[in-house]
Amino acid sequence: MLLRSILGRHGYEVIEAVDGAAGVASFKLNKPALVLMDVMMPVMDGHEACRRIRTLDADEGTPIIMLTGAEDIDAIETAFSAGATDFITKPINWPLLTQRVRYALRGGVLAREVRQNRLRQAAATRIARFGFWEWNPADDSLIWSDHAEELLGTSTSKLAAIPSLLEAILPADRDRCRNNFNAVRVGDGRLDIEFRLLAGTSEQIIRLIGERGVEGNDSTRLFGAFQNITDTRRAEALVDYLAVHDELTSLGNRRLFSSELANALDETRNNPQGVLLVAWIDLTRFHRHNDALGEAAGNILLTKVAQRLKIAEASGGNVARVGGDEFAILLRGSGEEDVVHRLSQILETIEYPIPVGDQEAFLSSSAGFALYPEHGNEVDQLLNLAQEAQRAARQQGKQLAQATPQGSGRVQAELDIERALRRALENDEFHLVYQPQMDLRTGRIVGVESLLRWRHPERGLVSPVEFIPVLEEIGLISAVGFWVLTEACRQARTWEEAGLDLRVGINLSARQFLDPMLFQSIVGACRGTGVSAHLIELEITESLAMQDPEHATQLLARLREVGFKIAIDDFGIGYSSLEYLLRFPLDTIKIDRTFVSNITDSRADRAIVRAITAIAQTLGLSTIAEGIETLRQCDFIEALGVTEIQGYLTGKPMSPDQLELLVSDFRRPA
Ligand code: C2E
Ligand code: MG
Ligand code: MG
Repeated sequence: MLLRSILGRHGYEVIEAVDGAAGVASFKLNKPALVLMDVMMPVMDGHEACRRIRTLDADEGTPIIMLTGAEDIDAIETAFSAGATDFITKPINWPLLTQRVRYALRGGVLAREVRQNRLRQAAATRIARFGFWEWNPADDSLIWSDHAEELLGTSTSKLAAIPSLLEAILPADRDRCRNNFNAVRVGDGRLDIEFRLLAGTSEQIIRLIGERGVEGNDSTRLFGAFQNITDTRRAEALVDYLAVHDELTSLGNRRLFSSELANALDETRNNPQGVLLVAWIDLTRFHRHNDALGEAAGNILLTKVAQRLKIAEASGGNVARVGGDEFAILLRGSGEEDVVHRLSQILETIEYPIPVGDQEAFLSSSAGFALYPEHGNEVDQLLNLAQEAQRAARQQGKQLAQATPQGSGRVQAELDIERALRRALENDEFHLVYQPQMDLRTGRIVGVESLLRWRHPERGLVSPVEFIPVLEEIGLISAVGFWVLTEACRQARTWEEAGLDLRVGINLSARQFLDPMLFQSIVGACRGTGVSAHLIELEITESLAMQDPEHATQLLARLREVGFKIAIDDFGIGYSSLEYLLRFPLDTIKIDRTFVSNITDSRADRAIVRAITAIAQTLGLSTIAEGIETLRQCDFIEALGVTEIQGYLTGKPMSPDQLELLVSDFRRPA
């Protein structure tokens, strides 16, 4: 009664229980902030009640104050071991009682806060997969926090000291870790290391950070946190891998290739015999396979090619996919011949048939290569040179080409030409020259070939060999080609009206030939000027017609129907076969200059020219030998049955005025 009234007067709400058991039940129900309890009670004594309340209250730490007799030291001891917070001896000193109660309540609040913080911290460390560790450098002992085993994937009893920890660390990481621990012993006491820990059969990546304590005993120890970062590192490794690899073929990409090349250059610089070869490979018309077979099959082809190119790795080389259908190869060797030979062998594998479903695909490629040290000593330089060489190979219809030293300069020059060409047509910078063609049977000029000239405002005359490929590339060939057609037809008409009756040859380029409007353009130009179609001879190259023989046959047949003549230009240097000759509607074969230049000494060339003229005679075609410069060449050519010649011997390409002069008093050179 006294207790109740005094505590009540100090503002506490008091709930009473008659014995220990009733007290435990009331605690469960009311969750009081503090318990005051006699040791001696009926039914259940205070010790037992105290014990039960503590189990009910494990995490809260509610203060329990026991009331005991002053002389009963044993009872006090038992009370503490049962979980009591404090005791008050009887007879009760009332003013002291209220102070003790207040003090115990404050302590209870603090204990609860500490407890909750600890729980939250435990949850946070568990979620972050964090643990704590402690190291005493004096005896090298280690202490790990509660859930460390879960995090480390191995029992902490095996990691109770630095030597046993080092033992569990992967040998490759061990020395580095040992050095770090030793450095901490003598240094500023900070540690931050990552290592792979052998945990059973698996390997965990652990990051360990720590710092020397600042005060008293702590200053000799290291405390810190550790974290299992295996998943993080794996994800990072995957991201790193994906950043430098191609997903489809698993080959490295250009970035990886560049860094591998950089390393190879570093290694080779000190080796006077060392040679590096950088190749750039492009699959020929790959998009056609893609269109015909579908993208899935296209992917199979690329994967297969990648697998085959990987044989380069067998001899320490590298392979990368550097574009949709483009690959790069790096080969190391001790001689140029050796690496170039290996490259050709690797390239050959591309041409073996590849099964796709129930079909077989046949791929081919063009490739270019650059060598270190011959062509360059920098990553981008070598790659660019190789790529340029590849383009050159493709243009020349070759499988493999070597870089040219002036390669890089050419790129800049091409850009300049490109810019100037875009304005050339409107600036009237083009004109045509005409080269005479003489009939060997009559000794008269019967035709001319029109040849395009471009006068660049600063550079002067630029060769068509240089600028026609650029016109094709930038899509201006049709426009310029149409200008050529119109101009040549206009000139032909002028001569026709003057009674000269000269046949005028007009060159058609490969791209122009693919223009669906070509037929209309030609017919349009011819009608617009009023020239007779039989005076116009269209020159196409064999490689051009071969690209799509069906389309070529159709188009040429239509043109001949309207009356135009058709000549096949540069004959003999491309793919042409006799079968091919028989199939195309033709009037004239122009025998390439390369056969003429050696005609006086080369029996093989004479045999070829003889074969060509024999076939031409059978088919009723005329033949024009190109590039006749000397009388001797002319004699040979005539003896072999060629019908017409074109070359410096009879006249260089010239203006219409000059040509008219030449024709008016022409004598066959003798
Ligand atoms: P092409 O059609 O085979 O023209 C013959 C080339 O041989 C001309 O070079 C001509 O000047 C050169 N030539 C003629 N006789 C001799 C000789 O006796 N000795 C030597 N060394 N060379 C001789 P050009 O004018 O530089 O033209 C080169 C190529 O440019 C032409 O080869 C042709 O493929 C192309 N081309 C020229 N004009 C045009 C054009 O208007 N349109 C198209 N699409 N291509 C053209
Ligand atoms: Mg020509
Ligand atoms: Mg020619």
